[in-house]
Amino acid sequence: MRYCKNCLSPDTRPNSRFNDHGICVPCTFTETSRDVSYESRLRDLKAIVRRLTKRRKNQEYDCIVGVSGGKDSTRQALWVREKLGLMPLLVCVAYPPRQVSQVGVDNLSNLISLGFDCVMLGPAPQTSRVLMREAFFRFTNIFRATEMVLFAGVPKMAMAHDIKLILWGENPALQVGESGSMGASIWDGNNLRNINTLAGGELGWMIDQVGSAEKILPYQFPDVELMNTNQINTLFLGPAWSNWSIAGNSVFAMPEGLNIRKDGVLSTGDLMGTSMLDEEWATINMMLKYYKLGFGRASDFVNEEIRGGRLTREQGSVLVERYDGICDDKYVESFCHYIEITIENFWAQVQKAASPLLFKNVTGMLRPQPLFTPGVDLV
Ligand SMILES: [Zn+2]
Repeated sequence: MRYCKNCLSPDTRPNSRFNDHGICVPCTFTETSRDVSYESRLRDLKAIVRRLTKRRKNQEYDCIVGVSGGKDSTRQALWVREKLGLMPLLVCVAYPPRQVSQVGVDNLSNLISLGFDCVMLGPAPQTSRVLMREAFFRFTNIFRATEMVLFAGVPKMAMAHDIKLILWGENPALQVGESGSMGASIWDGNNLRNINTLAGGELGWMIDQVGSAEKILPYQFPDVELMNTNQINTLFLGPAWSNWSIAGNSVFAMPEGLNIRKDGVLSTGDLMGTSMLDEEWATINMMLKYYKLGFGRASDFVNEEIRGGRLTREQGSVLVERYDGICDDKYVESFCHYIEITIENFWAQVQKAASPLLFKNVTGMLRPQPLFTPGVDLV
């Protein structure tokens, strides 16, 4: 495992790339953005949006914004309306009743009460549960299937409502280091389908689980031809923001009514308390990622803070060492109850899936123990 020389991004992140100086894509992008005029970026974005929405004014919504009600979507929806002057239709893919959190429900209500129209897509909970269980044992990624609904629901609704423009927040290539989504320009989101979460679109295992292709309709990202025929374009907004970050978006969304997590960092590893508020088990998945790839939720936050100059790499590595991989037992228990497995089954799968280069399993301990130090290359 090699780390970016500037931040604490490891090269174990799927689709990560480092330049010849050992610097990751988001750090390089931040560096080249230092002298950028965000006014001129906003002008560029407005010109593209104008071109894509020109003939449609007052006939349909101008665009679609996928939302959960969390900090990012609250900021995004308001920004699209106020800065771009557009009338968005918000699309929310709802979590099953047993997965959604009360904070998440309150936040979505808050967002709608800010004066937006919102359509909800609620995939069948039974299917979701079967797929979550299988995703856990097959990929040690409990969201492998359900994340696909979050992504696929948005273009599906765009087609259903004949809306040609989808506005997405973060550009995963430039802002997180997920190079799969890299498009023709910093705004181009038409390659979003290539990110690791969606890549390949291999749905066979899902069909095997639920018995028919019809049952996984909401999980299928529309294919390229269909998107082209319907002339649907996806744009990223993130590059137009000088301060798009976990911290920045939290500070922006809280005065707009965002409710935050009551659990502390020792339960969730969430240093701001504002990430993935809308459901109960994201903390589990962040822990699973940590055991498979050697980085977790604290790393994602800390890396942005290092790039923003608010933390040094040394300060960041202390936080990452302390908080990456944290997940309170109560989340594991409720998840095991949901997919009907024992706690022992759960940890046996984690031990099996943990990277043998990065972790060792110790007799008598449920959690694999790290063999690496954050920020220090492991060769
Ligand atoms: Zn970096």
